[in-house]
Amino acid sequence: MLRVAVVGSGPSGVYAAQTLVQQREVPGVRVDVLDRLPAPYGLVRYGVAPDHEKIKSLTGSLRAVLEDERIRFLGNVEVGGPSLTTARLLELYHAVVYCVGAARDRLLGIPGEELAGVHSATAFVAWYSGHPDAAAFDLRGVRSAVVVGAGNVAVDVTRILARGAPELTATDMPHPALGVLAGSGLRTVSMVARRGPSQGRFTTKELRELGTLPGVAVRVDPAELALDPTYRDPDAAAALPAVARRNLEVLRGWAETDGEEAAEKPDRTIALRFQLRPAMVLGGTDGRVVGMRFERTAQDGAGGVTGTGVYEDVPAELVLRSVGYQGVPLPGLPFDAARGTIPHAAGRVLRAGRASVGEYVAGWIKRGPTGVIGTNRPCAKETASSLLQDAGALARRELPGDPLDALRAAGLRPVEWPGWLAIEVAEADLGRSLGRRSVKIPDWSGLLGAAGSPSPPTP
Ligand code: NAP
Repeated sequence: MLRVAVVGSGPSGVYAAQTLVQQREVPGVRVDVLDRLPAPYGLVRYGVAPDHEKIKSLTGSLRAVLEDERIRFLGNVEVGGPSLTTARLLELYHAVVYCVGAARDRLLGIPGEELAGVHSATAFVAWYSGHPDAAAFDLRGVRSAVVVGAGNVAVDVTRILARGAPELTATDMPHPALGVLAGSGLRTVSMVARRGPSQGRFTTKELRELGTLPGVAVRVDPAELALDPTYRDPDAAAALPAVARRNLEVLRGWAETDGEEAAEKPDRTIALRFQLRPAMVLGGTDGRVVGMRFERTAQDGAGGVTGTGVYEDVPAELVLRSVGYQGVPLPGLPFDAARGTIPHAAGRVLRAGRASVGEYVAGWIKRGPTGVIGTNRPCAKETASSLLQDAGALARRELPGDPLDALRAAGLRPVEWPGWLAIEVAEADLGRSLGRRSVKIPDWSGLLGAAGSPSPPTP
C-alpha cells in the first residue's frame, strides 16, 4: 500500500487525491485528505461567491471523490503547527502533497492603507463566506465603497456589495453577514482599475453579470474608456485576445445606455473606473477612511501604464483592495518569497534545487494564484503523475501504522467524514429555522459542536 497525505481539501487537493486513486499503474494507493478546517472544499466553500450557485454545485463532484472508500477526509488538522510538523507528517505517510493555496492578500503599499475601513477583499470574502477565522464587518455609515483591482475577485465583492436583500437571503450566507449587507445604506460601489478596459483581468461572464443585478445601474464614462486606444480603434482591438474584445463590447454597451439607466432611479450604482492608480487613502479626523486619491494613468504601449500627475479623489467609507492573493510559507518547507510559491519541478518540491523525496505541491501554492477552478485539474494531474513515477521507491519505507492513531496521539481531534456530514445537517437545520435554505455556521465552536454531536438527518 502507498499511503499519501494531501494537505488541503480545495479543488487542487481533491483533484490530486482523485488522480492518485483512480489510476491503474500503481495499485493500492490510499489517500488521507487533511484540512485545517472542519469543513472540506477550500475556496469552493470559502471563496466562491454565495450567489454563484452553479460554481458552488461543483461540491457535488468534489464530494463524490471524498466519499471514495480509498480516500479519508480528516478535517480540523493543522499541518505546520507544533502538533503536526511537516517533518512528522512525512514520517506518517510515504508521500505528502501540499495543496494549501494562497491564503494571504497583497498590500497596495500606499499611505493611509492602515486606516479604519480599509480591508482586503480576502477578509471580506472570508466573512460573507462564513470562514470561522474571519472578522465581522460593520457597514454602518457606509454610503460609498471603493474596490481596487479589476480581477474576478474585485467583480465578486462589487456584486455582493451591490446586491439587494432578497437575492442575498436566497444564498447560504451566514445570517449575521446577511443582516449587515442587506441592512446597509450603501449607494455607490466604484471598482477601480489602474490599467485600461481592455486590460481587465475579469472574465466576460462575470463582468456582464454586473449589468443584471436588480435595482443596480452600471455607470461607465465613455471618455474614460476612450483613454484606451483599443476602445477607439477597431484595428487595434482586433489584435486583442478574445476575452478582452468581448469585455470591451460589454463596456461599450453600458457606455451607450448610461443616461437611460441613470433616469431609472436605481437603488444602487456600480461605477466602473479605469486608468486610475491608487496614490493614497484619505482619512477623516476620526482615523476612518473617507476616500481614495488616484492618479490618472496613460498606457505606455507595452501593456503597462505611467502616471500623468493628474489626481482624482473618490469618496468612500469602505475600501476593499482586491489586488490578488499570495502564498504563505509553511514551516519546514522551502518557499520562493518573490513568487509566493513552493519551488517545484513538475510538482516535486525542490530543496536547494533538488527534488525532495516524498514531497509534492499542487494548486495555487505550486503555480501562483491564477486560473479558474478547472485549471487545478491538469495541475494536480501533473503532480500526481510525478508522485506515481516515484511510487516504487517511496513505498519501500515501512510506516509506523495508521496515521490517524498518530494524529490522535499528538492531541489532534480530526473531524472525519461523518462529522462533516453532521455539519451539513446542522446547517440545513439552521437554514430551516431561519426560513432560509441551508445556512453556513460561521464559527469554530458551532462547527466543531455540530461535527461532534451529529443530529440525525431530517427526511
Ligand atoms: P487577479 O485576476 O490577478 O487580479 C488582480 C487585479 O489587481 C488586477 O486587476 C491587477 O491589475 C490589480 N492590481 C494588482 N496590484 C495592484 C496595485 N498595486 N494597484 C492597483 N491594482 C492592482 O486576482 P483575483 O481577482 O484575486 O483573482 C485570482 C484568481 O481567481 C484569478 O485567476 C481569477 O480569475 C480567479 N477567480 C475566478 C472567479 C470566477 O471564475 N468567477 C472568481 C474569483 C476569482 P493589473 O492587471 O494592472 O496588474
